[in-house]
Amino acid sequence: MEVSYCDVAIIGAGTAGIAAERSARALGAKTFLVDDRFAGTTCATVGCMPSKLLIAAADAVRAVSQADLFGIRTGPMSIDGPAVLHRVRAERDRFAAATRQSFEKLPDDVCIQGRAHFMDATTLVVQGVREIKARAIVIATGSEPAVPENFAELRELILTNENVFELRDLPKSVAVIGAGPLGMELAQALVRLRVTVRVFDEAPSLPGIADPTIERHFRAIIGAELPITLGVKVGASRVAEGVLIQWSGAANGSQTFERILLAAGRPPQLEGLNLKSTRIELDERGIPRYDRATLQCSGSSIFIAGDADHERPVLHEAAFEGSTAGRNAATYPHVSAARRYASLSVMFTDPQLAIVGTAPKHEGETTVVGSASFADQGRARMFARNAGLIHVYADNGEGRISGATLCGPAVEHIAHLIAWAVQLNITASELLRLPFYHPTYEEGLKAALRQICELTHSQADDLATPGE
Ligand SMILES: Cc1cc2nc3c(=O)[nH]c(=O)nc-3n(C[C@H](O)[C@H](O)[C@H](O)COP(=O)(O)OP(=O)(O)OC[C@H]3O[C@@H](n4cnc5c(N)ncnc54)[C@H](O)[C@@H]3O)c2cc1C
Repeated sequence: MEVSYCDVAIIGAGTAGIAAERSARALGAKTFLVDDRFAGTTCATVGCMPSKLLIAAADAVRAVSQADLFGIRTGPMSIDGPAVLHRVRAERDRFAAATRQSFEKLPDDVCIQGRAHFMDATTLVVQGVREIKARAIVIATGSEPAVPENFAELRELILTNENVFELRDLPKSVAVIGAGPLGMELAQALVRLRVTVRVFDEAPSLPGIADPTIERHFRAIIGAELPITLGVKVGASRVAEGVLIQWSGAANGSQTFERILLAAGRPPQLEGLNLKSTRIELDERGIPRYDRATLQCSGSSIFIAGDADHERPVLHEAAFEGSTAGRNAATYPHVSAARRYASLSVMFTDPQLAIVGTAPKHEGETTVVGSASFADQGRARMFARNAGLIHVYADNGEGRISGATLCGPAVEHIAHLIAWAVQLNITASELLRLPFYHPTYEEGLKAALRQICELTHSQADDLATPGE
């Protein structure tokens, strides 16, 4: 077997792996980046980008459907499914091509194509034909869609994020299994594109939204156009028209769908890596235990980053973790701790749902909550997008912002402001002294901040603007 030597080997050329390779090489390390496909990242090929492209088409439907409200008369609308999906793929392919071009710009010999597994803590075998010996190794193998056992038999009817964007036409009906961000984003986009959709989840409420008031509020809004069945066990069997979904729980029922979209989680892709041979400690799910500030696994020469560690499976965290892991792999055995970002996630539904930090378990002694509604907010009313509610959390002392759960129009922007405030340790009173342009959705935040100031007896010396 051919044997090659390097300082840092990275398994996986996704967002985390690319960032790890770059930061290790910037420190002078000889690197190898191993990937089984070099097809482009999950984000560009089957993740963030194509899903948002489908949402963009659904937004166009919404704009046409609402046009009448603004006095704009349109003719009858028709949705050209093949054209919708063609644009999704065409734009997606541009993003993916840009990622692939970035591989071509890497120095010769960095990229090694093939599936890798560990032989021991410092040795990888690629495709059974090449051995790589490395001083340190970064695991950046990403995640893959979970296929629950009760659906395994229905393989050709199953859609996941890996094949849904390859459809030539929109299906007539889809059962979406899983009400997390991936399931909800695609489900709402499909329903707006006139596909019959129902979302199912075992959980009694939408998973991942810890603030119960906002969860109920969001579910009520989105549930008006998208049937969501929660707290049920789902069974599936093949029928002539596709698949019969039967569900049991508080509300039993059954419905036939053409396809099933599985969005029941994306566990890390660690199988086949032969992690046992490395002797690093694994948790009960088989995920390496690691230090979240250094990304180092059990004090060893192995590091982990991105979806592979299953902690914050979003793109900016994959990039951050990748670059931290790459840097520490290059300087191993000396490693340094990175200060983590304030956690931030956005669900690109309409209204959007964003979460910053962690919702407090109990409001009261240590945390106060400022709330604001979009029902009568100026900018939201103008654009007929006046639905939503936000909760901003702060400490019950000086009113330092600790997080927020936001449901409303374009709350991705306010969520960024809150995340920056959390990371910069800013108080509600300090935030209120910063500029808010008029009339914007961002002004919707002010009422919540003022409430925090009131509750913490801090100064709120800004002036309310009409319709803010
Ligand atoms: C539908 C969908 C929508 C999303 N939307 C958003 C969004 O809007 N915003 C956001 O922030 N995040 C979003 N995400 C999440 C985001 O895409 C991921 O967090 C991010 O892409 C993870 O990057 P990664 O580098 O960890 O993994 P990946 O990009 O998946 O890279 C892993 C690579 O490792 C390779 N690999 C695996 N095992 C081996 C092996 N043994 N040998 C060799 N190579 C191997 C894989 O082929 C792959 O190329 C979305 C995800 C999905 C699925």
